[in-house]
Amino acid sequence: MRVKRLISVILAIIMLVSVLPIAELSASAASYSTVRKGDRGNTVKTLQVMLNAVDKAGLAEDGIFGSGTQKAVKNFQKANKLDVDGIVGPKTWAALEKKYEDKSSSLKIGSGNYNPGSLLKGKSYSIKGKITSDYKITSVTVGVYKTNGTATAYVKTVKPNAKSYDIKGVDSSIKFGSLATGTYDFIVKATDASGTTKTLVCNEFTVKADAVAALKERALENWVAPVKKSGYLNIKVAPRYFGARRDSGARAHAGIDIHYKKNGKGTPVYAMEAGKVVEYSSNFYGGMQAIAVQHADGSIARYCEISTSLRVGSRVTKGQQIATIAKSNIGGDTMLHLEIYMGTASGKLSNKSNKTYDYVTNKGYNRRRDLVDPSFVIELL
Ligand SMILES: [Zn+2]
Repeated sequence: MRVKRLISVILAIIMLVSVLPIAELSASAASYSTVRKGDRGNTVKTLQVMLNAVDKAGLAEDGIFGSGTQKAVKNFQKANKLDVDGIVGPKTWAALEKKYEDKSSSLKIGSGNYNPGSLLKGKSYSIKGKITSDYKITSVTVGVYKTNGTATAYVKTVKPNAKSYDIKGVDSSIKFGSLATGTYDFIVKATDASGTTKTLVCNEFTVKADAVAALKERALENWVAPVKKSGYLNIKVAPRYFGARRDSGARAHAGIDIHYKKNGKGTPVYAMEAGKVVEYSSNFYGGMQAIAVQHADGSIARYCEISTSLRVGSRVTKGQQIATIAKSNIGGDTMLHLEIYMGTASGKLSNKSNKTYDYVTNKGYNRRRDLVDPSFVIELL
């Protein structure tokens, strides 16, 4: 946040420096005659309109320079460290006009989408938000900046020359989905014909690694191994790896088989992370059980081909023994069959009718769509 504040200060300085010549230009561009007590006409009326707007002077806008107007002029001159003579010459006009412009420009952005917050790498974000002003908006710059203030490739400046502009007009130029992981600022700046420049949006946001990479990162930092290493055999050997063909190629292996050996029955299975049992299968395969434990981050570890006393609703702590490896009633080897889900879908984890997957390529795993490749768990062993 300190960095963000520093960036804001730098931006404010850049903005000030860039707006100064414009303000000077507009102050000298407008030309008003010197007016004093006793004068009448449109110039006096303009003066009264400005004093009312800037100082809430409460003057009748009648074009008559009387003592009330003179008093208001003197008050303004005093407050702005000008000669207090009640005569409105070039210096007083310039000061008054600058104040009036600042006061009267209503340059702002309405509600919309301009706070990306947290994005997954590769995910797009659509911006929108209507910028409005009493004056024509001469320039709008929308873009993504690194937190050190440098622009990324996704900064776009347009010249609307209208009193309103929706930043969705440059949406296609700001490719959030192409940003590398990291922290950025999303900035919207606008200038209107009064010479006012405002930073309307400066929102810090992050681009995170994709969901599976983020889960893997969390898991390798926080989880514990589901079985002790002793007796563990290589899951990279067919048909133990994720995606290995099953049923003569009709189906893909939806998990990894850990601790694969002939006499593994009774081997303790531990919860890799704390959580709550959200699904129990009494007969996952060959009379063996399975439980699915959902973690605080939403991800689910499904421990299968086991024997367990836990049921839906049971809470487990990290490292707690939750089961033992079982032996099938139809023969074969013993193993922990382990599946992982992001927890972003709903319904039963086994789903023979599902044909699409969010995190793995479509291989017919016969599982819920938020299935992920659990091979990273091997790194915990
Ligand atoms: Zn398996």
